[in-house]
Amino acid sequence: MELSPAPAGHDHAAAFADVKARVHVAEASCGRAGSGVRVLVATKTWDADAAVAAVRAGAVLVGESRMQELEAKGAALTAAGARIHVIGQLQRNKAAVAVRWADCVQTVDSLALAQRLSRLCVEAGRELDVMVQVNVSGESTKAGIEPEDALDFAGTVQALPALTVTGFMTIGLNSPVEAAVRAGYRRLREIRDQALIASERGAMDLREAWELSMGMSGDLEWAIAEGATMVRVGTAIMGTRTPPAY
Ligand SMILES: *Cc1c(COP(=O)(O)O)cnc(C)c1O
Repeated sequence: MELSPAPAGHDHAAAFADVKARVHVAEASCGRAGSGVRVLVATKTWDADAAVAAVRAGAVLVGESRMQELEAKGAALTAAGARIHVIGQLQRNKAAVAVRWADCVQTVDSLALAQRLSRLCVEAGRELDVMVQVNVSGESTKAGIEPEDALDFAGTVQALPALTVTGFMTIGLNSPVEAAVRAGYRRLREIRDQALIASERGAMDLREAWELSMGMSGDLEWAIAEGATMVRVGTAIMGTRTPPAY
């Protein structure tokens, strides 16, 4: 695990402000002005000082992908007032690290993982927000529950002790074709809408599951146009590291 220091002279506050401005323009241009899309800063591969610099710059939500890194940065991030989300694939044997530091695990993609998180939270006497990761891209290499299974899965997870399903997360199709990328994001929104409608009717208990975590540095405008409530941005806020860590 080699963590990078902040690039020399990088201004996290200016970069964060630029991304917020991009988000505001995107909201306005699709009729969602003032809808409060939140920006989560992906701090993976950056060292604790760089991650804390982003938090000081106004980024309250941070996303970590690897539990070894989270263990190394968790105390500093928490002390800085960050709300930590797990955004990388979480192995069951690393779930304790997430339960120790995270406010939310966005990447719940198996019942076994959800059950383990639930049990660890009960033991620790805490509650944990989780999102269901859905594979909307159709790429077999991507993690996530299949779209047709996502709603039932979310209901099953919500029924576990100490967990609250706060929404759905996806990693979009890596493609320059706007229509193809947006179709995936639209699919995620449909799942979320079904969850809320079913809850309204009393058929499910997913009324907290309104969050849509989708969109990254390269495509956040498309995700916001499809209803994203949270975008996950790394490079555009943290800068570019040389060489790339992974
Ligand atoms: C790294 C990461 C991001 C941010 O990616 P950028 O392209 O650097 O903005 C978003 N989501 C997930 C799951 C990530 O791992």
